[in-house]
Amino acid sequence: MTTYHTHSPQETEELAAALAQRLNAGDVIAYRGTLGAGKTCFTRGLAAGLGISTGVSSPTFALVHEYRGERLTLYHFDMYRIEGEDDLYSTGFYDYLDDPCALLAIEWSENIDFALDFPHITVEIAPGAKEDERVITIKGDGRF
Ligand code: ADP
Ligand code: MG
Repeated sequence: MTTYHTHSPQETEELAAALAQRLNAGDVIAYRGTLGAGKTCFTRGLAAGLGISTGVSSPTFALVHEYRGERLTLYHFDMYRIEGEDDLYSTGFYDYLDDPCALLAIEWSENIDFALDFPHITVEIAPGAKEDERVITIKGDGRF
């Protein structure tokens, strides 16, 4: 487990871009953190780190956005409205898990805890002492 402090959205993106270099196909990132914590910002950094130049936006309405990188395909989920197994199934989550090039990044992962019964990486983003500070804790599967 490692804890970082960032002091701007840019710093959060840079941290995520660096983390992306250490990620592999099949990795699943489960975010913890409320609205405005910086989950979408962090995902933007992951995308940048994977060489994805398309703008990353919140998948609030689509539930999942797909970004094809050179090495990995990033699937960015918003599970805010997901209430159970049937809802989750309809997002394509289980299909994407089978994609041999997939990296999954999941906002509101609290809502799909029932499905996260395999090793995954948790990225918790909490407010810091100052307005633009964030405390980011990365843990999981022995690497972090
Ligand atoms: P979430 O997806 O968790 O709801 P967003 O990434 O959409 O959050 O928004 C985070 C907001 O917080 C943005 O308005 C961003 O500019 C702001 N912000 C301020 N400081 C930071 C920081 N250190 N890291 C990430 N976002 C920050
Ligand atoms: Mg978001």
